[in-house]
Amino acid sequence: MHAISDRSFPQAGEERVRTKREVRVKIMVSACLLGRNCKYNGGNNRHEKLLRLLEGHTVVPVCPEVLGGLPTPRVPAEIVNGKVMNREGRCVDEAFRRGAEKALEAARREQPDWIVLQPRSPSCGARQIYDGSFSGRLIPGKGIFAEAAEQAGFRLLDVEELPEDFPEDMPNNPR
Ligand code: SF4
Repeated sequence: MHAISDRSFPQAGEERVRTKREVRVKIMVSACLLGRNCKYNGGNNRHEKLLRLLEGHTVVPVCPEVLGGLPTPRVPAEIVNGKVMNREGRCVDEAFRRGAEKALEAARREQPDWIVLQPRSPSCGARQIYDGSFSGRLIPGKGIFAEAAEQAGFRLLDVEELPEDFPEDMPNNPR
């Protein structure tokens, strides 16, 4: 499988997915959930229920790790004592933080009503992350991008907590 560079991968904000229905809500989404092969193993996390729910809304895909210049596929990484390390013991914190910063810039530019995220990722995890031991154990916590986006006031939604529909009234909309 060949690497996907951040040049060849569509950048957040460059693509809009619109369907027939009038656009009601803007949603930034972890790109792997849309079926993009940007996951560490070269695959994706395509989520059919999410795709159905997104119909008629404006969708802004984002992959912080690709934006950070990391190749696909890549060695899996976890947050170890506050730094992102890959399974081979290499510190990849800088690339993860650079990617989170670029993804946050895109969110600030796009002002999505919601950001829907892939669970457990060291970038996108919104509720839980792996504990840094590479043994599959989970702890409460957030990935680097999810943390930054929440601190900036964006509303995060773990894809495992999808509502039946995205509410139209947005009283706390940061826009
Ligand atoms: S960084 Fe986020 S969008 Fe990219 S592959 Fe990982 S979970 Fe998916």
